[in-house]
Amino acid sequence: MSPVGKSSYDVIVVGAGPAGATLGYELATKGINVLILEKERLPRYKACAGGVTVKTARLLDFDIGDVAQRVVTGVRVSYKGSKRFARDYGQPLVYMVMRDEFDQCLVQRAREAGAELVDNQEVLSVVPGDADVEVSTAAETFAAQVVAGADGANSIVATSIGLAEDREMGVALQAEVRVPSSTLRQWESLLGLELGHIRGGYGWVFPKRDHLSVGVGGPLCQAKKLKDAYKSVLIAEGLAGFASARPRSHFLPVLKNRGAIQRGRVLLLGDAAGLVDPLTGEGIYYAVKSGQLAASVIGECFASNATDLRPYQDAVARDILPELRAARALTRLFTWSTGSYVSAIESYDRLWRASCRLLRGETSYISLKRRLGKLQFVFDLLSR
Ligand SMILES: Cc1cc2nc3c(=O)[nH]c(=O)nc-3n(C[C@H](O)[C@H](O)[C@H](O)COP(=O)(O)OP(=O)(O)OC[C@H]3O[C@@H](n4cnc5c(N)ncnc54)[C@H](O)[C@@H]3O)c2cc1C
Repeated sequence: MSPVGKSSYDVIVVGAGPAGATLGYELATKGINVLILEKERLPRYKACAGGVTVKTARLLDFDIGDVAQRVVTGVRVSYKGSKRFARDYGQPLVYMVMRDEFDQCLVQRAREAGAELVDNQEVLSVVPGDADVEVSTAAETFAAQVVAGADGANSIVATSIGLAEDREMGVALQAEVRVPSSTLRQWESLLGLELGHIRGGYGWVFPKRDHLSVGVGGPLCQAKKLKDAYKSVLIAEGLAGFASARPRSHFLPVLKNRGAIQRGRVLLLGDAAGLVDPLTGEGIYYAVKSGQLAASVIGECFASNATDLRPYQDAVARDILPELRAARALTRLFTWSTGSYVSAIESYDRLWRASCRLLRGETSYISLKRRLGKLQFVFDLLSR
């Protein structure tokens, strides 16, 4: 039981990004009493390229068309600002969204399903006890049977349960760049990949309805080079002269092998859990997926009066971590041979088509790895 005077819930979700909003929606749909606490006033800007892959859209039970500002069917690739080619797949690969709109859509659905939302209140502490978990903001203390940390890369929930160290950090920098419609038309249904400006990472141009989202990301050891790399991307794409908002940087956390994402009554989702593809930086898919897995485990716990949330760690280990480990191996190959990768994707139709099928969720890194037969051990070595 919760102490008298504290608002009490079955579940408190900290953070209303894609992970938290998905979990809130799924739990409320099951009739579970859930509160979502969000530090920003919603809707809020989020530094993100806003690429929602077809793979991600397939997880959602609503049509993403309302918030998709563009549908990307092809990619324009350049290497060190020179080698350029474009390939079109002829079918949707990535939907381009602005995160304030996309996230608000997910939050709205959670509220309609019955989740309670308190925004503009930062969670300052999370204290697990024997019977429940206390969650405090500056204004109030709440209590719940289960707390889910969906509070992003700098998760206070992960820190509170001693799991924040289980992440390796990537870092990315991005700005929204206003361009004339003649420039915008050049992108239409293409996204741009700028390779070779930063070791182990890449730059991007993601077209939105009325502007371009331009950014660059890579491993934390490259953080000091990020601003220069960003300028190189702008110059290479002929965008240096256009007005842009101040570039914003943000971490991209990747769970270490054997890292934990659950302790007692508290579990972690999305970026808070380090569920980001180290090769592409894609995190929205894993945020939504982990929200769905957590909802299923929490639902089963409440249905059977159990409190053991370890099946959540097991579900993530089964459904998500093998992909992220394979992506880690590919990241190492990509870092050593970026130029060869660019040539290969230009020349080998099978590689291009496999990459598109990955974005569409029609194949996986693990399926591609299996095709290596006896050479799979190389992948395993590289993913350590
Ligand atoms: C520059 C950049 C570009 C990216 N581009 C893409 C892309 O194109 N496609 C893609 O799939 N992924 C992309 N990502 C990754 C993606 O943004 C994240 O993986 C995704 O947002 C994770 O969702 P989440 O719900 O776990 O966390 P978030 O979206 O970060 O949401 C966390 C929420 O918690 C709130 N919060 C934080 N602390 C507290 C607190 N103490 N109390 C209450 N609330 C709190 C935050 O305000 C936020 O609303 C990009 C990342 C960066 C940095």
